[in-house]
Amino acid sequence: MELQEIYGKETVRARIKELADEIKKWLPKNETLVCLCVLRGAIMFFVDLVRELEEYDVRLDFVSLVSYGDATSSSGKVTLLQDIRENVEGKRVLIVEDIVDSGYTLQYLKRFFSDKNVKEFKIACLLDKPCRQVDVNADYTAFKLDSDRYVVGYGLDAAQKYRNLNGIYEVK
Ligand code: 5GP
Repeated sequence: MELQEIYGKETVRARIKELADEIKKWLPKNETLVCLCVLRGAIMFFVDLVRELEEYDVRLDFVSLVSYGDATSSSGKVTLLQDIRENVEGKRVLIVEDIVDSGYTLQYLKRFFSDKNVKEFKIACLLDKPCRQVDVNADYTAFKLDSDRYVVGYGLDAAQKYRNLNGIYEVK
């Protein structure tokens, strides 16, 4: 498998700082924020993003979702493998996702939080692909891909490989 770098380590780091600055405009300093990592792909993005929010009262939580389909198509069936543990009622929640492709996973997450009585939730995603099956979008997006490519690195995998790479690569 051949990998071609799309975004290098320094580009990713700089863009996450910018994104954190945008997110800070939404956050009052005196409020608790629950940052929710959507496992497993969002892990690197999540860790680097929450480290930029040092001056806030941030709580960390995790969900694990599985979306059935193969590398090139999604069936639209999303299942929750691991639920949240924090009480999110009345709190602001930032959902941190790896990549939005068909949109089914994001749609699932939006529905999941719509009956949790949170104060407000927003979604941050690392990457956005151009081919949606359902019309949903993140509130904050680090990088928009202009064509439908399969990407790995910085948390994203191909058969569980490459998650530990510091940059984002296209699989050729
Ligand atoms: P959805 O199709 O529901 O928007 O995206 C579902 C999930 O598929 C994403 O959260 C991500 O884990 C995975 N996915 C979609 N596109 C890619 C890709 O290009 N690379 C990798 N590694 N995973 C992807």
